[in-house]
Amino acid sequence: MKSSAQVVVIGGGVVGASVLFHLTELGWTDVVLVERTELTAGSTWHAAGGMHTLNGDPNVAKLQQYTVGLYRDIEQRSGQDCGIHMNGGLTLAGDRERMDWLRMAQARGRYLGMDMEIISAAEAKRMFPLLEEQYFIGALFDRAEGHVDPTGVTRAYAGCARQAGAEIYQHTWVSDLRQRPDGTWDVITDSGEIHAEHIVNAGGLWAREVGRMIGLELPVLAMEHMYLITEDMPEVAEYNAATGHELPMGMDFDGELYIRQEGGGMLLGTYEQACVPWSPRETPWTFDRQLLAPDLDRIAPSLEVAFKHYPALADAGIKNVINGPFTFAPDGNPLVGPVPGVRNCWMACAVMAGLSQGGGVGLTLARWMVDGDPGEDIWAMDVARFGNWATLAYTNAKVRENYSRRFRITFPNEELPAARPLHTTPVYDRLTAHNAVWGASFGLEHPLWFQRPGSEPREDVTFRRSNAFPVVAEECATVRERVGLTECSNFAKYRVTGAGSAGWLQRLFTNRLPRTGRINLTAALDPGGHIVGEFSVARVGTDDFFLFGSQIAEAHHSRWFLSHLADGVRFDVLALSLVGLSLAGPGARDVLQSVTDVSLATEDYPFMTFRRIDVGMIPAYVGRMTYTGDLGYEVWVAPEYQRALFDLLWQAGRPFGIGLFGFRALMSLRMEKMFGTWAREYRPVYTPVQARMHRSLKLDHDFIGRAAVEAELARGPARTLGYFDITPDPAEPADVAGDEPIWHGGAVVGWVTSGAYAHYSRRSLAFGYVPGELAVPGAMFEVEIIGQRRPARLLPEPVLDPAGQRMRA
Ligand SMILES: Cc1cc2nc3c(=O)[nH]c(=O)nc-3n(C[C@H](O)[C@H](O)[C@H](O)COP(=O)(O)OP(=O)(O)OC[C@H]3O[C@@H](n4cnc5c(N)ncnc54)[C@H](O)[C@@H]3O)c2cc1C
Repeated sequence: MKSSAQVVVIGGGVVGASVLFHLTELGWTDVVLVERTELTAGSTWHAAGGMHTLNGDPNVAKLQQYTVGLYRDIEQRSGQDCGIHMNGGLTLAGDRERMDWLRMAQARGRYLGMDMEIISAAEAKRMFPLLEEQYFIGALFDRAEGHVDPTGVTRAYAGCARQAGAEIYQHTWVSDLRQRPDGTWDVITDSGEIHAEHIVNAGGLWAREVGRMIGLELPVLAMEHMYLITEDMPEVAEYNAATGHELPMGMDFDGELYIRQEGGGMLLGTYEQACVPWSPRETPWTFDRQLLAPDLDRIAPSLEVAFKHYPALADAGIKNVINGPFTFAPDGNPLVGPVPGVRNCWMACAVMAGLSQGGGVGLTLARWMVDGDPGEDIWAMDVARFGNWATLAYTNAKVRENYSRRFRITFPNEELPAARPLHTTPVYDRLTAHNAVWGASFGLEHPLWFQRPGSEPREDVTFRRSNAFPVVAEECATVRERVGLTECSNFAKYRVTGAGSAGWLQRLFTNRLPRTGRINLTAALDPGGHIVGEFSVARVGTDDFFLFGSQIAEAHHSRWFLSHLADGVRFDVLALSLVGLSLAGPGARDVLQSVTDVSLATEDYPFMTFRRIDVGMIPAYVGRMTYTGDLGYEVWVAPEYQRALFDLLWQAGRPFGIGLFGFRALMSLRMEKMFGTWAREYRPVYTPVQARMHRSLKLDHDFIGRAAVEAELARGPARTLGYFDITPDPAEPADVAGDEPIWHGGAVVGWVTSGAYAHYSRRSLAFGYVPGELAVPGAMFEVEIIGQRRPARLLPEPVLDPAGQRMRA
């Protein structure tokens, strides 16, 4: 065994083997994989081997597409049979909502180059004669689906990696990980130590235990999962003889099951409601190539549906029942990337569909390690999307919810109930008393809208407009015509202090730093010029700053700042030690002025001022800006003052007709002001030139990514963020939810990032990326919303107050 290596990958399942292979592909060959028993001994060996490209997140779908396309190549190069069966797959819908979901999935697939077809139930029956047509109304057919042999695939990755110089040590257990002061690692195994620059946790069923070796509690939980294999069936033999090929795979939403041919019989797997976690606290190290006891009673409801939907199964004998564990993160997506705050420590775990996703996970992680950039949009898989609130018990509740919803639709306006409320601010009860409908983001409850008194605070889930629509319209009108109050604690807040802070931040930020007492907007870029983050920067002293950013990116952004930290600079995540309320609308100044002695007149407290003032008796930092684009203030206080602040502002606002507004209204108001948002318009795969962040881009100073920006400005951006005015279907109006394809001249040319109905301007608006040369104001496009192509005009400027007079008044 080597005593040192550039990388030690811990775990020889399909994911670890893929990471190893991709590292060698990118030229890192001093890499080893350490496996405690034998390759595939965790979840991989008993996987059903199914692979799909369909995923609710289009970027994950793209990586699944990459994975499926990789198998022929590694099979050929390694000489290892991967057992590839590309039979295509049907996703079957039994009702209108599911059919809408399939149409939307097909539409998303268009800009990813995926060739998927919507077919009728009769066509589905023709392709898959085992199904009973009466239970379905249609299906999505995807040619790029099938199944592989999980062991063959793992060995093929390993074989290719070995050919390139990688070494694999089986029967070698990593028992401890110790970091040296220089950031490198001592990997302690039962066969000796390896000194490594980087470690990768691909521990699968033991990822949590490997995390604990370095003090991490990863949000990962294993679930039991069952599938059964039937004896050979005459119906299958008949089909094979008649067509010359195998049956396609089937995903059946209503049955919450998947079905495919296995040999001369069928394989049927379920995601049952009565799901059961496995080893919820600790995975035993003694577990080795084992299966769990089958429990057919638990999947009986799904089997009942299966026997109705596929009657031939009822007469088939069961040859084998497999029950095995595999791991999930709380939202069902993998945990990939560098661990925030720990140098040279990478995750590739919680991969619940290793045969569909393992290739993409390996590719992006290897690129991230070698190039410093995953090269694809992996936001949905980034290990930094969870904070320390994702405890063992939280993870348990969320994973069970996620497992039992595997075949359920999550609507764009749906908030899932498990593990809530958990993280709340002091005004939670006040806002609940005002009939708040709550959402949760990054673990924190935040008000979405305020139901009318006497009605139940509940939102109907839909792809179209919900019962919130008229109420949100009223909230928007309150802000634009009088004054609205909302909570704004769901920003990430950071404080940067210490000698040299200004110089340090200036090197990270694309905009010049504001003067003391002022705020401005800025972006931070990676060396390739991609957007790492966008922030409001408030300066309260020469070397003293508050930064405000997207809350869901708190761990992601902290990782970036901390990995660039300079001597003498202190970077603190303020989290809920600073909470806020925001006043917005033409009456905002009158309300706030009535409770403070500091003059708020524009000449004394102009737009983009940020100062420490007293509000009533409460010490506060007050910034004159709001995301509504109206006259407004964000008032930031320590949490112990937030309730008093709420009562004060609410009382003071009564003479001015104050009303509460929530996140839905905020999203509507920001759309009519053409304000982009993190994780939609601004993501690490876009650049500030593409995202038209020109106001935040000042080329008068040096900053990370500047050379890339200059080069892009010189050649012109390949794509540009457009702002669209959409004409919805008058009969059944629906607004965009995000990720819809944008058509032009009969072809898909781009995709929607986000949008909303702008209630005050009465327009359905959307943002989306299109090729730079097509982004001509007034140009006509079409946006495909739930299977309908709706006209969309590219607008040159905000539909409301383009000169920004309201916020400066
Ligand atoms: C019944 C069932 C059916 C499934 N069907 C499908 C399917 O159809 N399609 C699909 O895509 N996915 C399917 N899956 C999921 C799939 O099995 C997993 O996504 C995949 O196996 C995860 O691979 P992994 O490499 O992350 O983890 P694992 O396979 O668990 O591998 C982790 C490896 O790390 C090793 N290890 C851990 N800790 C250490 C240590 N300290 N030192 C050394 N080695 C260590 C372990 O021994 C193990 O071999 C199924 C799962 C089950 C249970």
